[in-house]
Amino acid sequence: MNEELKEQYTAMGIAPEVLSYGEEVENMLKSRFAEIDETAEYNQLKVLRAMQEHKVSEACLLGTTGYGYNDLGRDTLEKVYASVFHTEDALVRPQITCGTHALALALMSNLRPGDELLSPAGKPYDTLEEVIGIRPSMGSLKEYGITYKQVDLLADGSFDYENIKKAIGEKTRLVTIQRSKGYQTRPTFSVARIGELIAFIKGIKPDVLCMVDNCYGEFVERLEPTDVGADMAVGSLIKNPGGGLAPIGGYIVGKKECVENAACRLTSPGLGREVGASLGVLSSFYQGLFLAPTVTAAALKGAIFAANIYEGLGFPVVPDGKESRHDIIQAVTFGTPEGVIAFCQGIQAAAPVDGHVSPQPWDMPGYDAPVIMAAGAFVSGSSIELSADGPIKPPYAVYFQGGLTWQHAKFGVLKSLQALVDGGIVSKLLHKNLYTVG
Ligand SMILES: *Cc1c(COP(=O)(O)O)cnc(C)c1O
Repeated sequence: MNEELKEQYTAMGIAPEVLSYGEEVENMLKSRFAEIDETAEYNQLKVLRAMQEHKVSEACLLGTTGYGYNDLGRDTLEKVYASVFHTEDALVRPQITCGTHALALALMSNLRPGDELLSPAGKPYDTLEEVIGIRPSMGSLKEYGITYKQVDLLADGSFDYENIKKAIGEKTRLVTIQRSKGYQTRPTFSVARIGELIAFIKGIKPDVLCMVDNCYGEFVERLEPTDVGADMAVGSLIKNPGGGLAPIGGYIVGKKECVENAACRLTSPGLGREVGASLGVLSSFYQGLFLAPTVTAAALKGAIFAANIYEGLGFPVVPDGKESRHDIIQAVTFGTPEGVIAFCQGIQAAAPVDGHVSPQPWDMPGYDAPVIMAAGAFVSGSSIELSADGPIKPPYAVYFQGGLTWQHAKFGVLKSLQALVDGGIVSKLLHKNLYTVG
C-alpha cells in the first residue's frame, strides 16, 4: 500500500497494525474477489440486456401522479424485472413499503380461507410470525382461516424430506422458502438447493405454489430462485435490488396469476396494476437496479473480508471465511456485550451520515433483549448500506451487512476492528492469532 493511502487511513483513525492485518487478509482474498467480480459482470449484462430489450427510454424515468394510469416508466420497469428474473410478470412498486409488506402481500393475495401454508425449512423471518399468525396479530393469515405448518431442518441443516412429504396435504396451497438465514444460525440456501427442494415438493403436489423470500440474496449468484422453479420471488428494494438508490419499495416476480393476485390485493380488485402513481422514484429504481450487481458484489466482499478478519482473531463467524456465499449477511460472535457494542460503534464511526454519533443498546419493541444498531445510511434503515446490529444477549453475536462500495465496506470493517482494539477487547487474543502489534 502506498504512503499516501496509508496516511489517509491514519488520518481516519486506523492504526498501522490494524491496517497491515487488513492488508494481509485482503491479499488472501484476491481470487475470491475475482470470482465475485465475474458474477457481477454476468449480472450487470443480465440487467443491461433486460433494460435494452424493453427499450427503457428517457420518458420512463419520469413519474406520474394521482391515479397513475398509463405510467410508462412503472410498467416498463416491471417488464425489466420480469426479464431479469426470467418470470412471466413482476410487480415493483413504491407502494410496497418494505420486505415484510411484499411477503405479506404475496401470501395474503395468493392464499384463500381454508388453504394451508407450509414452511419446509424451519421458522421464517421474525416479522413473518405476525403475518402468518404464529404470534397472534391483528389481520394475520390465521384470522382469515389460513392454517400453517412448519417442518424444521434436520440437525445437520439438511431438509427433512420425509416430514416435508408428510406435511403436504389436501389443503397445502403455498410453500414459503426463505433463502437467507436472516438472524438464524442455519446456513443460507444456495439457489441450487432451493431448486432441489422445489422439485421435491412439486413432485408430490405439482400445483402447489412455491414462493421464495429472496431478501439479501439477489445478484449474489448468477441464477435466482425463479430460474429453478419458484413460482414467486419476493424482496425489498432497500436491500440488494435497489442498489442503494431506491428510497423505498418492494417487488414480487413470478407467474402471471400470482403477480396479478398481488396487484389486486395491493390496490383493489378491478384496479389491480393499472393504478399506483410512481411519483418521482422511478429513476432511482432504474438506476439502482442497474447498479445492484456491483453494489451487491461490494457488500459480498465486505462480508467475506469481515469473516476472515474476525475468524483470524479467533472469533466464531457464520458463514466461515472460506465457504461459498448465498447472501450478504455476516455473523460474528464476540461472546461479550462489550465486543458487540464496540463492533457496532466502529461501524457507525465509518458512516457517511451520522458518523459522529455513537449508538447504544436500547429496548426495541418486539425484542426480548436490548439491541444495538449501527446505521449511518442515506436511505433510512437501508441494509444494503453498511450496517450492523446485535442483540445484547448470549452468544453476543453481531450481524453485519452492506456497503455500497468495497472500499467503504473495507473501511467499516477496519474501523470496527480499531474500536475493538481501542476497547482492549482484541488485545487479549494477540498472542495466539495472526494479529500482531507493530
Ligand atoms: C429483511 C428481511 C425481511 C423483511 O424485510 P423488511 O424490509 O425489513 O420488512 C424478510 N425476510 C428476510 C430474509 C429479510 O432479510
